[in-house]
Amino acid sequence: MSAGQRQRVNIARALVLEPRLVILDETLSAVDPVEQSRLLALFEQLQVKHGLTYLYISHDLAMVRRVCTRIAVMYLGKMVEVADTSGTFYDPAHPYTRALLSAVPTLDANPYKPEECLLDGEPPSPIDIPPGCSFASRCPHAFARCRIETPLLREHKPGRLAACHLLDQEETTVAA
Ligand code: SF4
Repeated sequence: MSAGQRQRVNIARALVLEPRLVILDETLSAVDPVEQSRLLALFEQLQVKHGLTYLYISHDLAMVRRVCTRIAVMYLGKMVEVADTSGTFYDPAHPYTRALLSAVPTLDANPYKPEECLLDGEPPSPIDIPPGCSFASRCPHAFARCRIETPLLREHKPGRLAACHLLDQEETTVAA
């Protein structure tokens, strides 16, 4: 069977259990773009027919943008930003989300200039994460507090969450 056929068999095996939630972990990464488009259309049909909720886990931002209504961005196993699709792609709050978006090739002007979002350094070892923000070793905006205190994921706008000390600074500036 082709990769696309194998994916269909796997989907059928999952649906026979009549789930309400289906977790799709890099499910489309092994298929070509044409087959990917066909499978996404099939997922959409099945979602309507069976009232399904999908949880996609993916590195493919174009696919995520097409199919997801709400997105959680993860760095080193932790959520650093949660927002609806429009907020994630047009008004990201976390420097890591902005860095991800700056790396996406686009024909339009990319508002997240790679030179402003460029990531230096290496991510820390996942088994030995230093104190403070786990993104601090690569973040172009890191400051002293980031290396001491872990930022909490908190709501900074209605329905939108991010874990970054910069949001506290912005709120202080606005209040002043
Ligand atoms: S808390 Fe600091 S290091 Fe972490 S993302 Fe925000 S600015 Fe960057």
